[in-house]
Amino acid sequence: MRAAFLDRDGVVNIDRGYVHRWEEFEFVPGAAQAMARLQRAGWRLVIVTNQSGIARGYFNEAQFQALTGRMLQALAEAGVDAAAVAVYHCPHHPHGRVPTLAVDCDCRKPAPGMILRAAAEHGLSLADSILVGDKPSDIAAARLAGVGRAFLVHSDNPESVVALAKADVDAVFDKLTDCVDMLLSAADWAQ
Ligand SMILES: [Mg+2]
Ligand SMILES: [Zn+2]
Repeated sequence: MRAAFLDRDGVVNIDRGYVHRWEEFEFVPGAAQAMARLQRAGWRLVIVTNQSGIARGYFNEAQFQALTGRMLQALAEAGVDAAAVAVYHCPHHPHGRVPTLAVDCDCRKPAPGMILRAAAEHGLSLADSILVGDKPSDIAAARLAGVGRAFLVHSDNPESVVALAKADVDAVFDKLTDCVDMLLSAADWAQ
């Protein structure tokens, strides 16, 4: 099965920096609907998100899981089959304040660990899959994992300007919804 690997902050929701409360969580316009369209077109949705705020002690695992629950509930209200959305997060950071999480891990993007784990656990064909991210580290993780195509979205993130110049991306879009428009129209073309 093919998957759409999505970064969270800056792709699904507006990146306000270490978002961990539902009150701070605002979907990028059209993102939830775009996720529903991807799913209906046969893409397994997998969120892969660096959450170093946990290692840094800004918030904890329980708060992350609570926010994830609210996000999935909101996605369900937008027509997504939320039970079929897989969420992988990296709570680590080498310079974190929480000792057990202050490690050099294999899952913090640009490392490909979350993508490889998801592929193994859900039987995903990485070559047939895509990733949508807003930073060079997202694109690099996709390349290291062997994801077929990697797309960048701006989402008004200043780091994505750097990514525009540097990253080896297959295409650049304003937002997730524009990327999905392209993917689904390309699929129509192929039929
Ligand atoms: Mg991001
Ligand atoms: Zn990690």
